[in-house]
Amino acid sequence: MCRPALSLGTPKFVNPDFAVIHAPLSLLPVPYPRARFELAQKVQPLFNSLVDAVAADEAYLEAVLRPAAAHDAFTARLLALLAASRPARRGLAAAGREVALGVHRSDYMLDAPSGKFLQVELNTIASSFGCLSALMTRLHGYTASRVEGLLDLARLPPNPAIEDIPDAIAAAAAASGHQEAGGVVVMVVQPGERNAYDQQWIQLQLWERHRLRTVRLTLGDIGSGAVELEGAGAGASGTARLRGGRREPVCVFYFRAGYTPGDYPGEAEWAARELIERSDAAKCPTVAYQLAGTKKVQQDLASPGVLERFVPQPADAALLREFFAGLWSLDAADLAADAGGAAAAVADAVARSGEGYVLKPQREGGGNNLYGEELAAALRAGGEGLSAFILMQRILPPPNRSVLVRNGQWAEGETLSELGVYGTFVRHGSKVLLNKQSGHLVRTKTSSSNEGGVAAGFAVLDSPYLV
Ligand code: ADP
Ligand code: MG
Ligand code: MG
Repeated sequence: MCRPALSLGTPKFVNPDFAVIHAPLSLLPVPYPRARFELAQKVQPLFNSLVDAVAADEAYLEAVLRPAAAHDAFTARLLALLAASRPARRGLAAAGREVALGVHRSDYMLDAPSGKFLQVELNTIASSFGCLSALMTRLHGYTASRVEGLLDLARLPPNPAIEDIPDAIAAAAAASGHQEAGGVVVMVVQPGERNAYDQQWIQLQLWERHRLRTVRLTLGDIGSGAVELEGAGAGASGTARLRGGRREPVCVFYFRAGYTPGDYPGEAEWAARELIERSDAAKCPTVAYQLAGTKKVQQDLASPGVLERFVPQPADAALLREFFAGLWSLDAADLAADAGGAAAAVADAVARSGEGYVLKPQREGGGNNLYGEELAAALRAGGEGLSAFILMQRILPPPNRSVLVRNGQWAEGETLSELGVYGTFVRHGSKVLLNKQSGHLVRTKTSSSNEGGVAAGFAVLDSPYLV
């Protein structure tokens, strides 16, 4: 028997100009109350349905986000794209080709004064760390197995994110109708991504579990010709195909980029986003899903009666409201009317030099919020530009002691933790194919840091220990 021949060309040996470092981690898991944790898991399908319902009401999205968009060019551009792609979206829905795919992560902090998990935010685009977090659960399980009497394995909840996220993408790929024709998943990535290993696990699982091939492309690649929209007249929908070679159709566009203005340095990136939106592939997320996950929408849903419009069962809406922190609009009209006590909250925040509050712009990815004196100064300055921000109650999680391991070095300190619960959702037309809780993430940061991103360098990966 001969070895099968592979034509690889002449080997080239070069020293790589990169290095791999382990993800920063916590040596041991962090205690969380079991009942609260399980409640956060239980409500995740309700949050998934809520996103889908809000995204479907484009008139609502436009009305709520218009004041913010007047002072935030990024939100304005996303709204413009929502409008420009409407005819294509209607065409897809009429042809029975509308596939919605949600991979969300609802983030919480345990609020020490109330004992409740309060929602920090709900991410609908590029919710990351699902796979590394599932590995983190395994690592803590391994540690527990090696040191007798240290930890009770039964208190480490299973974390299916590493299977569930690829499975949801695969379910959407199947529903797209392009899989039989050799369709691919396009993972939309940032140029020079540093968190690529979390993403690689998804690609690996798509292949191993579903025989689905993933192609990694940036918005710049797509906008400059790597993908074309076949059969689409002006503004209409069409099939996205890889250019060249076998011209494979795209089953799913799965975004791990596109959530921050820096991901759109020019018109090519916006053209790519429009091409994707008009294509008959499943998109995770659509522009509407992305807008439904903005901070402004989160704040508006908390206003009296608004959430209830999107959640059919009153008992479900009441359950979701258990997770809402204090949220206030800074729109001039809402401040003038003291809607939901907005004017009083602003006065209190100013009087307390920002203590007890967080001021948030319409941004994702960490490092954008204002706290303390800076927050108070922004509120004191006032002005219409505040419409692009929301004011939020500061959640006060109980401190823990943790050993944090970063770049192979450990340090012990006082820490705060944030829980994320993943949700996956797939809908084909009016039929919901999948709606579930899909694992979790815990990020732990030193108490002195305001923000908590792992990729942003503030936090480490952790896992929950249910008590
Ligand atoms: P982003 O979309 O940029 O991640 P977040 O709303 O999650 O925005 O805010 C970033 C970080 O700021 C959170 O991970 C958390 O550490 C901190 N933070 C945000 N909101 C609050 C809050 N209400 N109370 C306490 N900390 C908060
Ligand atoms: Mg976010
Ligand atoms: Mg966040």
